[in-house]
Amino acid sequence: MKALYLFLNDLKRIDEKVFRLRQELDQIPVDLAALDTEIGKSLAGFQAVKTQHDDLEKSVRKAESELREKEDFLRKAESKMMEVKTNEEYKAAQKENETHKGEKEQLEERVLGLLSELEGFKKTVKEAEGVHQKRAAELTESKGKLQEEGKSIQRSYEDLLEKRKGVLSQMDPNTKSLYEKASQTVKGVPISKIDKGMCCSCNVRIRPQLYNEVLGFKAVHRCPSCYRILVAPVDETEALS
Ligand SMILES: [Zn+2]
Repeated sequence: MKALYLFLNDLKRIDEKVFRLRQELDQIPVDLAALDTEIGKSLAGFQAVKTQHDDLEKSVRKAESELREKEDFLRKAESKMMEVKTNEEYKAAQKENETHKGEKEQLEERVLGLLSELEGFKKTVKEAEGVHQKRAAELTESKGKLQEEGKSIQRSYEDLLEKRKGVLSQMDPNTKSLYEKASQTVKGVPISKIDKGMCCSCNVRIRPQLYNEVLGFKAVHRCPSCYRILVAPVDETEALS
């Protein structure tokens, strides 16, 4: 019976690791998704700057096209002036052309202003792109590390499951079935220590008779409250008896 308790203590240690590793494994996709979100945010930040740049570029193209139209118009208007017959007509056409010339000058200024703004903004876009690329590279590296870590945890996890199988195979069928029942009922490690008359997992007081049987390695019991298998600490340096 004491040997059985050694197995149960072993099983408890393995299960504690199994549950810890399971939690770590479950956390990895959550952390990976968080890193993807960060990469997405970084990209969105860069794209927002790029969109501002593209809008500005569109404004430049629009202003340039308006300027070309105005220049076209003026060229045609000036050639028409050659055809006017009277002095009044000439003066009226000249006056109208002056207005258009003024508008043309305004358009030229607008184009120059926008071009200079666009030139300055190109630097901002380049900087934003650099910041994003650096951030995305760092985050991608973190993802890679995390994935490697996940693989290594997965290997340890599988090794532990094999080890647990080994320990279980050496156990008598009754205890094994008790353990399997406890595993299905309990969320977490299905084995609990007892101390000072209490179950260490749920802190419920154990009946003295039950407590003494566990403590004296006389029988295997489950906690009546949390259904974990109760184990007494075994001095493992002692010979199995
Ligand atoms: Zn309990």
